[in-house]
Amino acid sequence: MIEDKNPQRTDLSQLGEFGLIDHLTKQFDIKQKSTLKSIGDDAAVIDFKKKKAVISTDLLIEGVHFDLSYMPLKHLGYKAVVVNLSDIYAMNAVPTQITVSIAVSNRFPLEALEELFDGIALATKIYNVDVVGGDTTSSQKGMIISITAIGEADEKELVYRNGAKENDLLVVTGDIGSAYMGLQVLEREKQVFQVNPNNQPDLDAYTYLIERQLKPEARKDIKELLAQLEVKPTSMIDISDGLSSEIMHICKQSNVGCNLFEEKLPLDPQLINVCEEFNIDSTTVAINGGEDYELLFTIKLEDFDKIKANPNFTVIGHMVNEKEGMHLITRANTKIALKAKGWNALKE
Ligand code: ADP
Ligand code: MG
Repeated sequence: MIEDKNPQRTDLSQLGEFGLIDHLTKQFDIKQKSTLKSIGDDAAVIDFKKKKAVISTDLLIEGVHFDLSYMPLKHLGYKAVVVNLSDIYAMNAVPTQITVSIAVSNRFPLEALEELFDGIALATKIYNVDVVGGDTTSSQKGMIISITAIGEADEKELVYRNGAKENDLLVVTGDIGSAYMGLQVLEREKQVFQVNPNNQPDLDAYTYLIERQLKPEARKDIKELLAQLEVKPTSMIDISDGLSSEIMHICKQSNVGCNLFEEKLPLDPQLINVCEEFNIDSTTVAINGGEDYELLFTIKLEDFDKIKANPNFTVIGHMVNEKEGMHLITRANTKIALKAKGWNALKE
């Protein structure tokens, strides 16, 4: 669907490997002082002076992590960057550079890669990071993208998954579950389209959900906001696989348990409506859906007053002794053990 939109198709072989790299990367400029050497040499050189370097990488495979029949390539490029930056923010660090590696089959013309790189470039502008390298190669089938994000932080600023303590409050930014339901809407429309290609979907009621799925944003605002409020989280993680599994990561690494309260879960009204339409329980979606790229963190109980009035934050639970385990407390006040289903399991 996507590829046919663009009538011009320049075969990648016309440019050759170096011509292609040059063409795709010439739009990237340098924004960070720490970037001493960027694209063009055998390796990039970065100087963080007294700061610590924070590094994270992700691999995205067509057909496994993305579906080009409803994911425009520009959005894919944008999202591939954002999901990596989210991991850097989850360390309470600031992303500064990325590398971009791609493998593509000859099914993709130059114009497709231009769209992908336009999305990458847009994300680097919005998030103020430099593209300092990467690799470009061919694949037998489909597209593979691997992005590595690099960031910096003072050592004392860094927040790990393993610092949560008993009685700490569990806090989430933004709202959750919407990206997963956005995917359900897109999957449904794809099936409708396959049956009848003339059927133009009306997606007005789902714009927020679809945007959360196709154009997620990472929480670049939270580090500064917490610093202003003088709150340092005791542990932090980003929500990529789903709330439940991220809570379990924090609990296992911190040797604590957790009580999560159903009535506290921050849900967008559009999510609640679409869950009714699909006849899916919105709590299940909020807990097991993924790809929200919000931040989940714990704070000391005494810091509650500093965050309670801020609309970016919702306290959704608290940490308990490890022996008590990890539970969801429902609206009916029953206790259900948390399970790490991850978002894929929801499809079964
Ligand atoms: P090498 O042979 O050392 O692997 P390449 O010819 O692959 O070098 O790459 C040349 C330069 O272009 C390097 O600086 C590399 O980091 C950069 N580069 C290659 N592919 C990409 C890409 N997809 N995105 C950004 N930079 C890239
Ligand atoms: Mg190379």
